Parts: sequence; C-alpha cells; structure tokens
Amino acid sequence: MQDYLVLVAVLLALLVGLSTGKAWERYKLVEGRWIDRRRVRQSPHFILGLNYLVAGRVDLAIEELEKAARLDTGAFELRLVLGNLYREKGQVGRAIQEHQSLLQRPRLNKVEHANVLLCIGLDYRRGGFVDRAVAAFSDVLKLDPENEAALINLEKLQEDQHQWHEAYVTRKRLAQIAGPPDQPKSQSILAFLENELGLQAFKAELLDEAARRFEAAIDLDTSVIPAYVHLGDVRLRQGDLAGAVAIWERSIDVTPDRAYLALERLEQAYGRMGAEHRFTELCRQLTAAAPREWRARTALARYLTAANQPARAIELLFEALEHNPHALAIHQVIWNTLSLLDLPKPLVARYIEITRQSVFYLDPHVCIRCRYRSTELLWQCPHCHEWNTFVEERIAPATDTEAEIPAGLMP
Ligand SMILES: [Zn+2]
Repeated sequence: MQDYLVLVAVLLALLVGLSTGKAWERYKLVEGRWIDRRRVRQSPHFILGLNYLVAGRVDLAIEELEKAARLDTGAFELRLVLGNLYREKGQVGRAIQEHQSLLQRPRLNKVEHANVLLCIGLDYRRGGFVDRAVAAFSDVLKLDPENEAALINLEKLQEDQHQWHEAYVTRKRLAQIAGPPDQPKSQSILAFLENELGLQAFKAELLDEAARRFEAAIDLDTSVIPAYVHLGDVRLRQGDLAGAVAIWERSIDVTPDRAYLALERLEQAYGRMGAEHRFTELCRQLTAAAPREWRARTALARYLTAANQPARAIELLFEALEHNPHALAIHQVIWNTLSLLDLPKPLVARYIEITRQSVFYLDPHVCIRCRYRSTELLWQCPHCHEWNTFVEERIAPATDTEAEIPAGLMP
C-alpha cells in the first residue's frame, strides 16, 4: 500500500510537471501579457495565408500572414517567412528590415541565428548587394559550417564574380558534406570550374598552367567537352599540331553529339597537315552515326562548295535542312550555294518545298532545368546558374525517333 501511494504521488508529480510544461509551451509572457501561442497556428488567417501561398497568390498570403503575426508579435518563424515573401515580391528593403529586426531579439539560439542570417544573405543577394551577401553567408557558416544553403549561395556569388578558385573551394566543401550520392554532380561542377581556371590561365598566356587545368577538368569528368576544345587550343599554341588534333578527336569519341564544337578547328588543322581527306571522312562518319547530325553535313557542304563541288554540297544541305528546318546557318549556306549555281529553278523549287511545312523559331538551345532559351550552347545557365544543362531542341517529323537528350543530361 505504501509503495502504491508513492507511485501515485510520483505519477501526479509527473502529470503536474507535464501540464505546466505544456502550458509554458502554449503561453508566453510578452510585454506583461500572456500570449497563447497556439492561437497563431489555429487562427484562420494563418491557414488562409498558407492556402494562398500554395496557390501562388503571394500578395494575399502576405496579407493573411501579417494578420496572423499580429496575434503573437513573438512568432519567430512566421516573421521569417513574411520577410522571405517580401523578398519574393521584390520588396528587398522591407525584407531586410524584417529579418534584421529578428536579429535584434534576445535569446536567439544558434540555429535561429543562422536561419536569420541566411535569409538576410538571400535578401542582399536578391538586392544585388554582393559583398554584404557574401558576408552574411560567411557568418552563417561560422555558426553552422555545414550549412548547404549558405555554401550553395556563396558558390553562385563567387561564380558570378568569376572567382573560380574560391568557387572551387566552396564546391569541395559541398562535395564533402553531401557524400557519395551527390559526388558525380560535384565532380562535374568541379570540372567546369577547373575549365574556367584553365581559361583564365590561357588568357594570361600561362600555357603549362592552362594545360594542367584542362587536363584536371577531364580527369574529374570525361564529359566536360570545353576542356578538350581548349586543351587542343593550348597544344596548338605550344606548336603541337598533332597533340591538338589528338585531343579534339578524343572529344568527338567521348560525345559524338557535341562533335561540331571541334569540327571547325579540326578542318583547319587537317588542312595545315595536308590531310583534308580526314575531314571529309570524319564528317561522313558523324553523319552515318547520327542521321540527324546537321552540323557535320553543313560543314562538309561548305567544304565541298569551297572545293568547287556545289552540286554535291546542295544535296547534303537539303538533307540537313529536312532534319533541322530551324537552323538558320543551313539556310545561309544553302543560299550561298544556290547563288554559286546561278539559282537553278528546280533546286529553288525543292528548297521551297522542304521549308514550306516548317515552323521557324530562334533560340534552339534550352536549359532542361529552368527552360531558359539561348541561340548559343551555354555551359552555365545565366538564369538558374546550373552547369551543363543545355540541350538543343529540334523540330522534327513525328516518325523520327532519334534521342534528343543525351542520357547523361536527363533531369
Ligand atoms: Zn537554367
């Protein structure tokens, strides 16, 4: 019986303790008034605000969440989110003000402090205050050295300012934190950064250094094609024509669908070696391997036209055009070749027939991440800042089943 009473007493004490704790969690003393924290989350304004947010109606979401925030002036997360919404709306000054007022609060714990600083960094970045953004993200990392969001933002800021070395160091840290599952992506980004470092060295005429950087890029990720193209350029500058040709040919072996990037360079190099036949062979090989490859056809046609064989060239060009009616470059070469042939009526009629059904548009390169369009192939998207996300979009007959997106680039 004694034992039983003791047990009940202990349980009672526990219950009292728990409910006091609950009450403490639920109520909070703010400026001499007890505030029911639960009221904020249960207020219709809070729920309505979230609903508007989900529906993408930021203005209405802000309105409701502001009303909810008035119920509890201490609501930390809510104020943080409100600040972020102001930023999304483009009201950067207001966002900074909101977030900085949170920083003034006493008794912020380390996580809260880091979160506010991260948001301030994002505000500054959005407002274009680069130095302040860098400082804010660096402060986050002092509190939380493994904060991925801060590292990613820092990396993008460094890339924007072409601080390739700093971006490289940041990416290394990210790769370490992410561990094996994310390693291939980091390897690829590091390879592109090495390539940029190589270009910097190349511009400064530091040829050995540049070659080392481009080689390191290829070692990190064999599919980083610009590194091959530029390494060939360095070899050429070093007087090593055969070495340049070898590296450009290797780039074509690695990704035949981007072969055109080295095509013009190879044409000139083969010419200098007196081995023009290797160029025509290469173009034929590329065309046979990928029936829709238009640049190899166009390059070969240009070569044949220059070699005084415009009639053979025009057949190749019509083939190229059937697969890629949007490529302006083909039209230009066709008209050039037709003019050389004195505009024979049957050929002009064929040209009109091939193009009649085509829809034309510019900017065939598209970022598979954010759908940004570009006339040129870009290695880093100017919109979402991702590396190696551009593919060439083509209009083609429905029967054509050749893959559009290289397997390695599938999102
Ligand atoms: Zn993009």
